[in-house]
Parts: sequence; C-alpha cells; structure tokens
Amino acid sequence: MSKRAYNFNAGPAALPLAVLERAQAEFVDFKGTGMSIMEMSHRGKVYEEVHNEAASRLLNLLGNPGGYKVLFLQGGATTQFAMLPMNLLTEGKKAGYVKTGSWANKAIKEAKLIGETFVAASSEEDKYMSIPDLGNLVLPENTAYLHVTSNETIEGTQFQSFPDTGSVPLVADMSSDILCRPFDLTQFGLIYAGAQKNLGPSGVTVVIAREELLQNSPAHLPSYFRYDTHAENNSLYNTPPSFGIYMVNEVLKWIEEQGALEGIEAKNREKANLLYQAIDNSGGFYRGAAKASDRSLMNVTFRLTSEELEKQFIKQSEQEGFVGLKGHRSVGGLRASIYNAVPYDSVKALVDFMGEFQKANG
Ligand code: PMP
Repeated sequence: MSKRAYNFNAGPAALPLAVLERAQAEFVDFKGTGMSIMEMSHRGKVYEEVHNEAASRLLNLLGNPGGYKVLFLQGGATTQFAMLPMNLLTEGKKAGYVKTGSWANKAIKEAKLIGETFVAASSEEDKYMSIPDLGNLVLPENTAYLHVTSNETIEGTQFQSFPDTGSVPLVADMSSDILCRPFDLTQFGLIYAGAQKNLGPSGVTVVIAREELLQNSPAHLPSYFRYDTHAENNSLYNTPPSFGIYMVNEVLKWIEEQGALEGIEAKNREKANLLYQAIDNSGGFYRGAAKASDRSLMNVTFRLTSEELEKQFIKQSEQEGFVGLKGHRSVGGLRASIYNAVPYDSVKALVDFMGEFQKANG
C-alpha cells in the first residue's frame, strides 16, 4: 500500500485505517452472502442487523440513558437546519439560537424561513473567536428549543460545557465534534450530526433525540421531513444510505476499541495539546485564532504574521505531504482538523514541519 497522507481535511475527513481495511476485506462478499452490503435489500435480515447494531452501539457509547432514539437520515446537517424547526418550531413558539459562527448562522437562516427565532447569545462582537457565556441564560416560556453549535468547524471554537435550559429542550449541531469526548446525553433534547467527520463517510446524518420530541410532527409536513416517520419506521421508511450506515457501525466498533469516549478524549487532548503548545510556544510566529479557553479539540485554527507567509506555509506543507491545512475561504489563515481518526503521528509530523518552517522563515 502507498503511504497514507497526513490528512487534516475538515470533512469529509480521515477515517481509521483499520476501518477502511475491514471494509475493503468485506467489500465484495459480505459475510459469505456472495454480495456487497451495498448490493443487498435494506429489508433483508443481514442488512437490518448492521442497521440496528449501529443504532444501539451509538446509544451505548453515550451511556444509553433510556428514552432516546437514533435516526439515520440523509441530506446532511444542512437538512437538519430546516427539519428541526419544521418539526419542533410549532405555532406560537420561538426558537432560540446561540450565534457562535458560520454554522450557527446557517442554522439560524434556515429556521427563520420556518418560524420565529431569537438570538439567545452571540459572540459576533468577538468575530466569533469565542463562545458566549451562557451562565445567566433566561429563556422565554414559549421557547421551542435552544440550539447550540457545539463546535464551530470554521472558526475553531468549541463549547466546554453546556447550558442548563430547564424544561426547554437543548438541541445541538454536533457535526464536527460528536463522540470526541464524553457528554451527558440527558442534557439534550436532540442532537444531530453529518457523519463525515467523526462517524464515517458523507451521506449519513445522525439524529439522536428524546422519543417524545420525535412524536408530534405537524400534520402538513411531507413524509420524509417528519421525525415521526423515521422514528416509527426505525429509519427504514425509505431506502437508507446502507453502505454509509455499515461504515458508521465499523467506526463505532473502532471507537469502542480505543477505550470508548474516555479513551478517545484522552487521545484527542494529547493531539490538541501538542499542536496548541507548538503554536503558543512559537514566540508569536504562529498565533492561535480562537480564545484559548474556548479552543476546539477538533479544528485548530491559527495564523502566521502575514498572508504571504500563510500562502507559503500551505504550499510548502503540500509539497511535504500534508493535506487540508488551508483555513476556510471565509476566514483565511490555517486550520488543522484533527478528528478522532487523525493519528497522533500525523500531528507530530505537522508540529515538526511547523518548527522547520519557523526556523527557515522566522
Ligand atoms: N454544521 C457543522 C458544524 C459543520 O461543520 C457542517 C459541515 N462542515 C455542517 C453543519 C453542514 O453539514 P453537511 O455538509 O453535512 O450538510
């Protein structure tokens, strides 16, 4: 096999090599069926076992507190930006949003098309380089839900703890940090995530919600856009993204093998510390973009002293086999996405490269 790239892509992103190899071994003949998992009916026993296993593995990794259901959907987190208010932002209610950056803003934009929204807190004044303090949050009684973006993929900020919303359901877009660390599922009414960062390939979207939030979709909604349709049909109302769900199941097995969420968090902290320390100890040559206390474990955003130097860094890094270090086009700078599957050795190689680059250009 040719050498694996130092893959820092923001999503789709690196997958565990062990998972890719397992999928490769089973690709043409899944468990002696004489066909790929992609070639069989989603109504058959063989597929259904994989499907149910993926859902229960996911709940188990989150401590399976009871009363929650997993849905496997399509359309990415982007579809959830709309589907969430379509189902939960009902007549007479308002939806609260915490405005933390690019993805929160996209979620707000879609919700506004469906109903009334309000901004419960914002870090816009800080150019979204921090997470607003939610310690004194007071929500109006008719709040349908409070929506947070647990990790802003573009800006590189992450919630370190979540607000207590009392009887108002807390909803989180966890697309870019789901399963990067343990969290208390019972704090949330609903969470959703596109799979293509920490869960598997693109094409699968996961929704995990308290069962009662999946029961009362407004009557006028078309079938696919109703949470109750998918909840009542075990995410098999229509043809699910079966290969993607199989891959999610394999990634979840891999996470179990890493010591579940505690084990994964320890590894993620080790990687993030290594990289942030390299930035902080560079004497100002590299500068972290986000406020230190709100920095993301997953997307490390940083700057150099000029855009010229940043361009040079990206070009040279690509020549050395590093992929995906250019910051998102909307904010510029540099970004290393170090999701669960990015090996420590890739981060170590990057830190070494950063040292060499500074020596040559500092
Ligand atoms: N939310 C966040 C936090 C994201 O990072 C992304 C994708 N980068 C999205 C939503 C959109 O996801 P999708 O492309 O799956 O619709």
